[in-house]
Amino acid sequence: MSLQSHPPETTLSDDGTTAAVCPYCDRPFVTERQRALHVGERHNATEAERRAYEAARDAESDELFRLHLKVIFAVGLLYAASIVGGVVAFSLPG
Ligand SMILES: [Zn+2]
Repeated sequence: MSLQSHPPETTLSDDGTTAAVCPYCDRPFVTERQRALHVGERHNATEAERRAYEAARDAESDELFRLHLKVIFAVGLLYAASIVGGVVAFSLPG
């Protein structure tokens, strides 16, 4: 197994356009939310930037919660399907 780390995905859109650029370090971002998170975590944000950061963090947290619900549902469905499959397989005469 390789221990080589993979860099994060930083590819921008094919036409080279960016939705937002950091006002402090000129780093391009694909979405405004990514820029708000970057500014809030890496720079001394103004009050408006701090509010944007909090909103972006809340939105990301909500999105992560929904993802966890989907994963729990999928694991539960897989578990139930395996139980039903086992019951059917062991009840067959043979
Ligand atoms: Zn920056």
